[in-house]
Amino acid sequence: MPGPVKTEAVVLRSMRFGEADRILHLYTPARGRVGAIAKGVRRARSRFGGRLEPFFRIQAELHEGRGELLTVTGAQTVDPHSRLRGDGHALDAAARACDAVGRLFETNEPHPGVFNLLCRQLGLLDAQAGAGGVGAGVEGASRSEGAAGRAGSLSFRLKLLLAAGLAPQLGACASCGEPEHLVGFSGAAGGVVCAACEAGSFPLGEEAHGFMTEALGRPLNEAPGAGEQTLGQVERAVAATLEHHAHVRLMPAFAAS
Ligand SMILES: [Zn+2]
Repeated sequence: MPGPVKTEAVVLRSMRFGEADRILHLYTPARGRVGAIAKGVRRARSRFGGRLEPFFRIQAELHEGRGELLTVTGAQTVDPHSRLRGDGHALDAAARACDAVGRLFETNEPHPGVFNLLCRQLGLLDAQAGAGGVGAGVEGASRSEGAAGRAGSLSFRLKLLLAAGLAPQLGACASCGEPEHLVGFSGAAGGVVCAACEAGSFPLGEEAHGFMTEALGRPLNEAPGAGEQTLGQVERAVAATLEHHAHVRLMPAFAAS
């Protein structure tokens, strides 16, 4: 329906276009991922200022014409998340979070829960960066902790799976329903599997199983921690679920340094 559109949005991506324009990917609560063009935004005196950079949460005014892209006609800042821009690890985690949302939820199907989840993750990264909690602080302790760490990033991805209706079955064997002796994970079966059904699965330890259950049950800011081996199994389970059920392959949840 052509006409004006007012919506909150998070800027997922911003790509140069032509002499002074940018093409944006916006994530909105009611319209999913939206492509929009911001005309003249790269000119020094653009009326948009810097408000259309990635990770900005904005109140956007768009115009919908006949083309695929909407046109940005106005933008007010809701939250610039400016502290996370000064922290390399937080910035990297924010980029991975936005990439995952943009690729898993690339249509205009509404997923308000995904919008809220992304806003929470960006807010958390921003707050922790501001408190010196991401990539700073005690040497060796903080690099992998908090929202920007591997455990935090995987908790976010698990919650994205839940929002997409792809949450893995964790309570019993996804193939036969056996509640005990769960030893593996199968993307094809859609969850944990028991010893009798383990063909085609890979080993998933008790800790990894527990991490997934806790991460799905707790708020994002109370994400559980775990060792590298455990997190490796969790990441493989998330990737297998996405490949089998969404045919999406994401970049790793965390940049190994
Ligand atoms: Zn089974």
